[in-house]
Amino acid sequence: MNVQPKASHYINGRFVEDEGGSVLDVIYPATGEMIAKLHAATPNIVELALEAARTAQGEWARLKPVERGRILRRAADLLRERNADLSRIETLDTGKPIQETLVADAASAADALEFFAGAVAAFNGEFVDLGGPFGYTRREPLGVCVGIGAWNYPIQIAAWKSGPALAMGNAFVFKPSENTPLSALALAEIYTEAGLPDGLFNVVQGFGDVGAALVSHPVTAKVSLTGSVPTGKKVMGLAGSHMKHATMELGGKSPLIVFEDADLENAIGGAMLGNFYSSGQVCSNGTRVFVQRNVHDRFVSRLVERTKAIRMGDPLDPDVQMGPLMNKSQHAKVMDYIAAGKSEGATLATGGNAPTMQGFENGFFVEPTVFTGVTDEMRIAREEIFGPVMSVLAFDTEDEVVTRANNTEFGLAAGVFTRDLSRGHRVVGQLQAGTCWINAYNLTPVELPFGGAKASGIGRENGLAVLGHYSQLKSVYVETGDVQSPY
Ligand code: NAD
Repeated sequence: MNVQPKASHYINGRFVEDEGGSVLDVIYPATGEMIAKLHAATPNIVELALEAARTAQGEWARLKPVERGRILRRAADLLRERNADLSRIETLDTGKPIQETLVADAASAADALEFFAGAVAAFNGEFVDLGGPFGYTRREPLGVCVGIGAWNYPIQIAAWKSGPALAMGNAFVFKPSENTPLSALALAEIYTEAGLPDGLFNVVQGFGDVGAALVSHPVTAKVSLTGSVPTGKKVMGLAGSHMKHATMELGGKSPLIVFEDADLENAIGGAMLGNFYSSGQVCSNGTRVFVQRNVHDRFVSRLVERTKAIRMGDPLDPDVQMGPLMNKSQHAKVMDYIAAGKSEGATLATGGNAPTMQGFENGFFVEPTVFTGVTDEMRIAREEIFGPVMSVLAFDTEDEVVTRANNTEFGLAAGVFTRDLSRGHRVVGQLQAGTCWINAYNLTPVELPFGGAKASGIGRENGLAVLGHYSQLKSVYVETGDVQSPY
């Protein structure tokens, strides 16, 4: 299983190597096998990428929005045509089952490019009537934007960031997570094939130091990071110290509230999607599942039954529903949280083990796990685990659950299951979260803005909102009479 790319980086429309950079081993999480070997960017590579972006940006920004959009639209078509190959790369890079990557990764990247290809031409400034004189605003690109990715949705993150940035007339340099460097290179080739001029989308590999070098470089106008809260604080601080624009898409510990009148099968389905998809490595997961007390036991018994039926195994088998975690350290971290849940007194309702499967003995698998009897103070209810570990907490009243749901530093997402739609709207109106679902969970269509409140982030991706975050307003005052000067 060798998916070695032609070179580590993609700059100015071609693959570039610099073996002087530290080695980056790419591991298939299901087997622990090395599938590619890349190099982190040296300072020279960082310079080359930013310089290529700076040189290409001006001419790109002068194209009409529909002309830029046409190229993005072609890239969307190519992503869809190659979905099968791209999904395989993503499965090998992340360990996520092919059943998921076929529908959630390159497909979502294609949706983003298609959406921004069309939307950008309609994203304009405004006319301001000043009673004779008038004003108008222009939406201008920022210049060179940098994206830094996490490892759970590599090509989706690369496209969700670069799509709107390029549509608005910016140039882009993307640093994928050091754990998942492959699919961004495939996206770069697709952009070139779709007709994107050289230098507008560049990929450089590396660890946090490469990310920091990109952010602090004088050419960079903006950074958009997807990552954990501690990394977000560092990157936001660095961007602030250089007065750069910043978008932070960070972690969470989101609440999912199930009222007694909910359709329980749907609520259980939502809770499972919001905890076990991508082996639980989803930022917006509803890991604190609050269930109203009089349906609690019914909810738990059916949840356990359905969780036990999840098929875990070979991620390339289309029938497999759950793969391994990203790497050894994430595996160890999740197993530590499971131990903490037990020692703090939660009840392990199902799962909790690291299974060994024939042919996958060195994979980083953890069973889908449900804890009941969880209280708000336990670490498993307060800290982001980023693994397949669901905490079920019982509650009695609406006011109580809203207070408890909001009692966290995070604010990425929240969900409510109820048949009483007045209550659904009333409750989401009080939840401190950037994205809320009523009778659904973890759906993130590109048309709807996505992002966090509180420590979970700043700025938004998707929707028309993100175009604002990749542009700056210029206000223009136009005089139609004489200048009234006292001098
Ligand atoms: P991470 O914070 O460890 O790393 C994220 C990226 O930041 C990586 O590319 C890393 O190399 C880079 N980085 C690390 N230190 C840096 C520094 N000082 N300067 C610049 N760049 C630096 O996150 P991860 O483990 O890759 O991903 C998991 C986290 O991402 C979870 O917390 C998850 O919730 C979050 N996440 C958020 C979203 C969202 O949209 N809100 C989506 C996916 C994942």
